[in-house]
Amino acid sequence: MTAPIRPTFDSGTFARPAEVLDIVLDHISQGMVVIGADYRTLAFNRRFEEMFRLPPGTVEVGRDFRDVLRVWARETGQDDAMLTRAIAELDLTEPFEFEFEQDIHGEPRWCLLTHNPIPGNGCVRTFTDITERKRLEAQLRQQSLTDPLTGIWNRRAILEFLDVELERFHRHHGELAVLSLDLDHFKKVNDGWGHLVGDAVLRRFTEVCRAQLRKSDRFGRAGGEEFLVVVPDGSLGDALQLGERLREAVAAMRIEPGEGRPALSVTVSIGVAAARHRESATDLIQRADRALYKAKANGRNRVEKG
Ligand code: GH3
Ligand code: MG
Ligand code: MG
Repeated sequence: MTAPIRPTFDSGTFARPAEVLDIVLDHISQGMVVIGADYRTLAFNRRFEEMFRLPPGTVEVGRDFRDVLRVWARETGQDDAMLTRAIAELDLTEPFEFEFEQDIHGEPRWCLLTHNPIPGNGCVRTFTDITERKRLEAQLRQQSLTDPLTGIWNRRAILEFLDVELERFHRHHGELAVLSLDLDHFKKVNDGWGHLVGDAVLRRFTEVCRAQLRKSDRFGRAGGEEFLVVVPDGSLGDALQLGERLREAVAAMRIEPGEGRPALSVTVSIGVAAARHRESATDLIQRADRALYKAKANGRNRVEKG
């Protein structure tokens, strides 16, 4: 048998439309498969085979595509529910898009599938590798939730977390507490030692606090020198104890400003509030903040409850 003649565009000869279509299909960056009304595979391109790296011979023109899906599920770590869904979706008569994760020979990859029904049955499907986009999205989301100075959660992240925890609290009638922290006379640190030392104090402060927290606690910078701790399943008593531990650890902290200057220390005031029936996140934080003002008014370096 002679090798098929590949049409070229520079030889002066014109390729026939069907041959051009072949070239296009084999050189687009998406995987593509055409499935007929009886689930038979009518066509597929090279990228489709490469992307899924299925065992040789898995995809053949004429093969029942449901069998291809069975091999795909086995090879890429999909469970039975996913396979059942994938087979059922072959019959869908509306176009749809779907993002899914798969294991390609031990490497996690994300894929975007598009499904376009052919009038009179069957469908055309495309597959795009979106692993890099997914990685960037995750990175951006992480950045949007992190405070750049201290590396802990920012205000938005803490509020998101508190909303989720409050919902759980309202559903299960458990316990949930919030601590609002504000460094005492922090302006004096900046004025006396400079902004850079102020920044170093904020970073050390977060490390010292973190060491006192459990994994399940959420610690975030609400802004400036103000911080929030959310304690899931924490009672008012638990939160008061934690507040006291944090207060003591911060007071014991010594920071060397360098250049032969004496060590400096700071203190923190803390307000504590435990969630009430049907309370919103804003109201809960407001009560913790009011307790914090009380701690300031009562002399600072104190823990008060709201
Ligand atoms: P109080 O005990 O009443 O809380 O006194 P305070 O001086 O801490 O009060 P205030 O909230 O008015 O001042 C906070 C200061 O924190 C003012 C601001 O310059 C400083 N600050 C806020 N964010 C940063 C930061 O990112 N780095 C540094 N170095 N300082 C900051
Ligand atoms: Mg403040
Ligand atoms: Mg302050």
